[in-house]
Amino acid sequence: MPLKFFNTLSRSVQEFVPLDPAGKSVGLYCCGPTVHDFAHIGNFRTFVFADLARRYIEFKGWSVRHVMNVTDVEDKIIKRVRDNKTTLAEYTGRFEKAFFEDFQALGCLLPHQTPHATAFIEQIVALIEKLVARGVAYAAPDGSVYFSIAQYRSAGCCYGQLLNLNFEELRPGERVSNDEYAKESIADFALWKARVREDGDVFWPSPWGQGRPGWHIECSAMSTQILGPSFDIHMGGEDLIFPHHEDEIAQSEGAGLQESGHRFVKYWLHGAHLLVEGKKMSKSLGNFFTLRDLLAKGYNGREIRYLLLTAHYRESFNFTLEGLQGARTALARLDECLARLREVAGTTVGGDTLKSPPMIHGARGSENRQTGGLPHEGMTSQCPCAVAGPEPGLVERFAESMDEDLNISKAWGEVFEWVRETNRLMASNAVTPPQAAARLAAWERVNSVLGIQPARLTTLATGTADGTAAIPSEIASLLDQRQAARKAKDFKQADAMRDELKKLGWTIEDTPKGARLKRI
Ligand code: AMP
Ligand code: ZN
Repeated sequence: MPLKFFNTLSRSVQEFVPLDPAGKSVGLYCCGPTVHDFAHIGNFRTFVFADLARRYIEFKGWSVRHVMNVTDVEDKIIKRVRDNKTTLAEYTGRFEKAFFEDFQALGCLLPHQTPHATAFIEQIVALIEKLVARGVAYAAPDGSVYFSIAQYRSAGCCYGQLLNLNFEELRPGERVSNDEYAKESIADFALWKARVREDGDVFWPSPWGQGRPGWHIECSAMSTQILGPSFDIHMGGEDLIFPHHEDEIAQSEGAGLQESGHRFVKYWLHGAHLLVEGKKMSKSLGNFFTLRDLLAKGYNGREIRYLLLTAHYRESFNFTLEGLQGARTALARLDECLARLREVAGTTVGGDTLKSPPMIHGARGSENRQTGGLPHEGMTSQCPCAVAGPEPGLVERFAESMDEDLNISKAWGEVFEWVRETNRLMASNAVTPPQAAARLAAWERVNSVLGIQPARLTTLATGTADGTAAIPSEIASLLDQRQAARKAKDFKQADAMRDELKKLGWTIEDTPKGARLKRI
């Protein structure tokens, strides 16, 4: 089935066809965090959504280049730097570090590139110069530069592509210098903001004098520099549709960067908000929880990730602690089913409670999961691995749901239906070790998209901000493979896995209770 997305640009569900003529690679940009404070879990709903989209596009076989910027200079940050009497780098560095700790605790794959606005000033200035040269931007008397909506429209371009704007009713104001404004205050917006006393040391030289970039131009410059003038997917929360993304289109297309007939972005995907009692979770309303708040209450990253991934991305939903409790219960059901499957298959994760595998070459039975069902050395036709490609039912039904505009709630429905069915079969001893292995392989395949970290391994994690949930699933899977190799006395393979983990920044400690992973 083809993958389909709801494209905010066309206001319809469309089949996803990448721009790459070879049909192989996909460029994905998601507006990243503004590092002025700890991110709240509403922010993380959007980042987990982007992680899900990236993982699913990879699952479908495309190679994704995922870019997420770090907004490290804008109005709010400058105010905080001033209030805290500190420097920009010191202030934003602290919150950026916290952001990425939380990001990983939630099981998100690191984007391939995480550009910082402050490292792109040269490219930002060059883009503004282009807009000025094309007559769609102008310098104001104070040395600020504004985007001219009237000039852009009179050049035949449409301002209001993501959001229908009725220029008959709206009376565009003269200029708006704040980065954030509502559509009622539509006006020429700032590309470059002339230095004022309150900016302190936060300024750069430019052809228009000292100053700093506006927020919207930062994303246009970073995304087009890295992914090219036209790329496939641009994501963010729904509050970014206007003005941020509308302004990004105006800037990027107004500069005429694209080949004729090409748009700045082909598919725009926007995630609905996480709410608290019907209102957007936000810093300004004070109704927010950070990840750290929830960890302090005893929840962990995998439970919070699960909760954020229960509703379809275009549906807003209310965050409640009861909801988190429900996530815990649901994951416990899943974990129990997986643990029993491992017992039947003759493998357990982490190695400390491994039962002797019942089949021909001992614990090597566990390798069917490691190899994802591919044949491996020493495999015989009697080996469970020989028939243990992922059991197709779950994977197919999961993919069918996800193809429909990433219908994750339906996909979870399929997962739990499978849990029910698997439990029923196991209760009547109707699952053979090869079948259990195949079911586990199916779960692994599905979980390459869901990104739910393994339960038992996560309890062994140490040395992380969230000691229970910061092991990425790839790392957990490597440890799993290493433990199985040791059981099979394949020490060469076990050492290779240990080295691989080391390269990725993790070390293994063997304790009487099992293997323990530590960050190096
Ligand atoms: P910021 O750090 O404020 O630039 O926001 C980062 C991302 O979080 C943006 O994509 C926002 O759209 C998104 N966001 C902010 N609040 C929420 C919320 N309550 N629910 C979902 N996403 C949100
Ligand atoms: Zn952005």
